[in-house]
Amino acid sequence: MSELLAITNAVVPSHYELHLDINPLKTNFRGSARISLKPTNLAACSIQDLKLHSKNLVILSASLCESKVEHPLDVTYDKSEEVVIFNCQEQILFSPDRKLFLHLDYVGRINAIKTYQDETAGVFKTNFMDPKTGKSNNMVIATHCQPYFARSIFPCVDEPSLKTTFQLTIKTLSRFKVISNTSKVSSSKVGNSDQKLTVFGITPLMVTSIFGFVVGDLEMSRTEVHSNYSPNKMPLSIYSPSNIENAAFALDTVQKYIPILEEFFDKKCPLDKLDFVLLPFLKDMAMENFGLITVQMNHLLLTPTVLANNDVRQQVQQLIVHELVHQWMGNYLSFQSFEYLWFNESFATWCACEVLEKSGDLPNYWTSKAYLVDQTGTAMSSDSDSHTLSIAAASLKATMNSPSQTKDLFDAHSYAKGIAILRGMSLSTGEEFFKKALQKVFKDESLHKNSIKPINIIYHMANTLKSQNISNHFSSWCRTAGLPIVSVELIEESNKTKTKLVQHRYITSGDTDYEDVPYSIPLFIQLPNTELDTKHILMTDRTLKIDYPILLCNHESQGYYHVSYESDEFYKQINQHLTNGDLSEIDLVKIFTDLQYYIGDSAYQKPIHLSGLQNLLQHLSSDEVDLKRHAKYWLAMRSGLIALGKVEQLSAANGNFAHDYIYSVVTPLIKKINWPVGKFEEGTYSSYQLDCMSKLLFMGRELPNICELCHNYFNHILQGPPSSVPIEIVESVFAVISQSAKNTKQWKRLFELANSCEGIKENVSFLNINTPVHSDALQFYAINYMCFSKNFGIIKKTLEFIAANLEISGIDSALLGLTYNAYQKPKGDQSDCQIREIVWEWFRTHFDVWVRSCVRKDASSDNKRTSLSSIAFHVFKMFAADEEIVDEFLEITQDSFLDILSAKDYWEIVKSTHSEDKQLLEKTMKYDVFN
Ligand SMILES: [Zn+2]
Repeated sequence: MSELLAITNAVVPSHYELHLDINPLKTNFRGSARISLKPTNLAACSIQDLKLHSKNLVILSASLCESKVEHPLDVTYDKSEEVVIFNCQEQILFSPDRKLFLHLDYVGRINAIKTYQDETAGVFKTNFMDPKTGKSNNMVIATHCQPYFARSIFPCVDEPSLKTTFQLTIKTLSRFKVISNTSKVSSSKVGNSDQKLTVFGITPLMVTSIFGFVVGDLEMSRTEVHSNYSPNKMPLSIYSPSNIENAAFALDTVQKYIPILEEFFDKKCPLDKLDFVLLPFLKDMAMENFGLITVQMNHLLLTPTVLANNDVRQQVQQLIVHELVHQWMGNYLSFQSFEYLWFNESFATWCACEVLEKSGDLPNYWTSKAYLVDQTGTAMSSDSDSHTLSIAAASLKATMNSPSQTKDLFDAHSYAKGIAILRGMSLSTGEEFFKKALQKVFKDESLHKNSIKPINIIYHMANTLKSQNISNHFSSWCRTAGLPIVSVELIEESNKTKTKLVQHRYITSGDTDYEDVPYSIPLFIQLPNTELDTKHILMTDRTLKIDYPILLCNHESQGYYHVSYESDEFYKQINQHLTNGDLSEIDLVKIFTDLQYYIGDSAYQKPIHLSGLQNLLQHLSSDEVDLKRHAKYWLAMRSGLIALGKVEQLSAANGNFAHDYIYSVVTPLIKKINWPVGKFEEGTYSSYQLDCMSKLLFMGRELPNICELCHNYFNHILQGPPSSVPIEIVESVFAVISQSAKNTKQWKRLFELANSCEGIKENVSFLNINTPVHSDALQFYAINYMCFSKNFGIIKKTLEFIAANLEISGIDSALLGLTYNAYQKPKGDQSDCQIREIVWEWFRTHFDVWVRSCVRKDASSDNKRTSLSSIAFHVFKMFAADEEIVDEFLEITQDSFLDILSAKDYWEIVKSTHSEDKQLLEKTMKYDVFN
């Protein structure tokens, strides 16, 4: 990274007075600047040269003016560093009590934007069609400065560590709307020309990256905001190239949320006006320039029909409130370096969701799928690797890589984790206390005067709260990579039941070489009486002993960590609360999803996880839990059945059968469900319930009553009436039909669907939204589930079908059923072999011919090669336990053939996964799952 001019210069700008002459017909603009300078170190200094950032600017004249003496400056450029160097013939002695100005005249570039790919940076111009006149000579000229483009608008110290004030004057066409960060002071016609001169007010102290202006043919809609913090109403406008009426919802949202945010921060909106400008193109989608928020127009110009969709409305509100929050955090308070962009962005989103949820526009956001699964869940998964960096390390690395766009600096993972950290901090501090401490930050002028670091805010809050916890907590999560797993155990000690918690870093990659520093974990403990524990808020050491039993921790999944419950008593207690219906659905989902992480991972799976899973699911299947009254548990049941499915898959792939284990759950649960005999009626089952039903049909595929049900459903799929079977259960119905086929004649009806589903697609639908299904999706299911049968003739036919259709992508998935039944004996064949041996024979016989056919260069050779690689992978997996068989095959086969398919690499992957699975199996044998 280059040296910082704010440090190396003897003087730096304190105020920019800019005059820009924007003629839209020219490719350049004229600028003149009068830049007030101040000494970098508040002491007298001597100046001979001065460096400013400058990109694509040509300086026409430059002079330094001190005590009315004008010193001409020589100008040289360092293009690679994007700086201009001003040099004075003589040394100028300068003391802070005097005034010093840099006067510049220059020319800059107006970038023409024609497509979405063009860089909307610096000053850029877009022509667009006027929808009313149909003429395409309308235009808008706008700016974008973040991260380092202010330097192509005016010479400056373009670094976020330096805050200055700005005053802008623009000369341009009279017909244009002219907007900038602050309100207009005056607007006057220039002589008899078609030009006008607009003078804007002085800005508050701000960084260069949020400077901006827009001029152009724009429509405008205006309103006002009443503030409890000012006697004056604040003007609020939204500008758009066209269809301004479709921005009404956006304007209403801004008007609604400014007072809410003023109250949240207990501080008036930092500017005396606010404008939103919609632009035809904007690469970063939205930019929070101080007082002048620019947004790519299709995000906010929405017709009433589109806005009828609740999700769309919530997205618009989230976008707008996020940008509004930046006016306080990011603009009024700003950060020293783009290294802290993650905090700025995480804060804006956390705060926006916070106020939107409290106002009722984003109900239950913090326990929603969008937050817990899509955002936090994804971040937690990617954080489970030993190679992930801490937020601090990742953001420093991004800053070092000389970023040219904001997106180079933006790290989605740190951003999502940052939101979770803020959420955790706010809850563990107490939301009201946290907000009050935050409000104090905005009362402290000194934090506004200079750019700061996030930790300065956190220290300030810690002082207000008189607790170091909050700053330790924040630093711990910024500096430490990954996330923890907390193991919880109930122990008996001196006739009392106590709780012991132990934390470690959670890693799924099997690596053992990683740092395992204790995290600061917000516990969110729920006690057996369902109240929240107020005594133990944070866990900061490796272990924590609590003097009494707890029900669960990480209540409502609000903490960024996994929990492993390692005493039977936990599962018993939870069952009791399932009976009462007073356990939250999110808590049960969290317990099951954590189990999903451990089951199948040799480093984490313990017998208690398998018995715990079985206990909970059996209890949910029993008469003790009224699933009609507590329908909320279907959502969690789905996660539980996914975990159960993992046990089935793992056992089948190793030639063991967890038959009793699986059926102890599946059989009673199937009985508990009211299965429709005919058509599925709309609204009778939730989508979660349907998912559960589908999983149960699949896992219960050998039960006679399930076969009977599925034959009935299959007839409906084939013969209607329309929309009689929901898409959610179709794949399982196919699996059951395939499984129960006794001969090829019975199976043929399913097989035909693998070729085409065009005629039957009307009979299947998404139950509750009544949307038709695409026939490709049905065909895909038919291929996947075509061979769960153990009938020798059907197996042969399936294999022939695969061999004849290698060019169909995804054809290899027809082997799915065979992998489930790999170790079983086929029916109707005299030979005493296993199904996998039939597959092996088929694979070996055809292999050479197949490879030759995909070497030929024709339209289908790529698809064939991909299918063939995947087939090899599946077949190798069936023989993972018998290495010598595959090894021998690889030895006698031509290397060139194997290379084409990367067959040896696949075999290595199969072997290493298998050895892990084997370890796991040995461990789980202790718990009697496999029998
Ligand atoms: Zn933002």
